[in-house]
Amino acid sequence: MERSPISRKLTSRFVAGSALDDGVGVLKKLSGDGMLGTLDFLGENVKSLEEAAQSREAYLAALDEISRAQLPATVSIKLTQFGLDFSEEACRANVVGLVERAAAMGSRVEIDMESSDYTDRTLRIVSSLQEQMPGHVRAVIQAYLYRSEADIRMLSGRKIPVRLCKGAYHEPSTVAYPGKAEVDANYVKLMKLLLDEGTYPAIASHDEKIIRQALRHIQEQNIARDRFEFQMLYGIRRDLQRELVGEGFRLRLYVPYGNAWYPYFMRRLAERPANVIFLAKNLLRS
Ligand SMILES: Cc1cc2nc3c(=O)[nH]c(=O)nc-3n(C[C@H](O)[C@H](O)[C@H](O)COP(=O)(O)OP(=O)(O)OC[C@H]3O[C@@H](n4cnc5c(N)ncnc54)[C@H](O)[C@@H]3O)c2cc1C
Repeated sequence: MERSPISRKLTSRFVAGSALDDGVGVLKKLSGDGMLGTLDFLGENVKSLEEAAQSREAYLAALDEISRAQLPATVSIKLTQFGLDFSEEACRANVVGLVERAAAMGSRVEIDMESSDYTDRTLRIVSSLQEQMPGHVRAVIQAYLYRSEADIRMLSGRKIPVRLCKGAYHEPSTVAYPGKAEVDANYVKLMKLLLDEGTYPAIASHDEKIIRQALRHIQEQNIARDRFEFQMLYGIRRDLQRELVGEGFRLRLYVPYGNAWYPYFMRRLAERPANVIFLAKNLLRS
């Protein structure tokens, strides 16, 4: 399915393309439009440590291209793509080389957060990378998890930048708020905590109500525009993206590329069932 001829038609709204050049092409365009980027080489839960090493090589090549083109971009990785299912130590060793390369070029590695099975291990690795190379990693926290306020306080204490998102995995109610209203309320609470006390936080959401609350808080608390950034996914709410950039806010777009698009794509569909109808109509039309 991932390599079938219709796959490009299905995925083009959310995925830059199958090759690194496609991702870098989008970053260049974004940069021309005044936006920052973070490049995601699609993949997760690799089946061997050899595959994990291939992911690392792909990301090193991505950082080289970003550096060569002098783009204002970071990379975003998933630790299960770097071997976390096999060994925490082997995974960490794979990521260290990438953070070193990012540090040498003044960039950063953003470590996506996966399902709650991985939260402790992910935060352990992020914390140890921050100790070794301060300022060159970013953690991700999901507002749907009950534990997230404590995690944010821990990360802020270590001056680790945090990307705050709502969370994209199916989690049981023993660990996560089951209702949208509760998740949204927790998001707003954590967002304010990060804006007030965090280190260069990223507000990652397309929720217009939440963005408006962020803007209000930023204005009321007189928070400088270079102390935080907004983040959104490639292909989602382009109108809101343009508005924020037009008003002079920093916005970074998450740009995925590669062939292993299936899980990423399915999460985007699950977030908005209307996408399924939209896609079906487009496929029928073409
Ligand atoms: C930069 C970035 C990085 C992320 N990294 C992670 C991560 O590491 N781990 C993780 O678990 N999750 C991650 N996410 C996903 C996140 O957790 C949410 O699943 C996703 O952003 C949808 O939540 P929302 O805040 O946009 O609000 P929602 O309430 O889901 O959506 C608000 C509005 O945004 C628009 N919208 C949202 N999603 C879509 C969509 N798929 N298609 C079309 N319109 C849509 C709609 O207009 C919708 O009404 C990331 C999100 C962003 C923006």
